Amino acid sequence: MTTNEQADEGITALQVACDTEVSGCVFLMRTEEDDRDRLLEITRDHVREQHGKEYTIDEIEERHVTEVEV
Ligand SMILES: [Zn+2]
Repeated sequence: MTTNEQADEGITALQVACDTEVSGCVFLMRTEEDDRDRLLEITRDHVREQHGKEYTIDEIEERHVTEVEV
């Protein structure tokens, strides 16, 4: 019998979905909360390279990151 569960951790993940801003883009990324900086940087680079828009890290964090229970 294995007891490999993480009880009562209340794990939260961060998710960015580009299609909230740009219709038709399927970019979606989910990371652990510890990876917030990396998530924001990757999203910023994606928006710049794929859509030609400049967002700051703060803008992305405020407007596009959602916290999801996992
Ligand atoms: Zn996109």
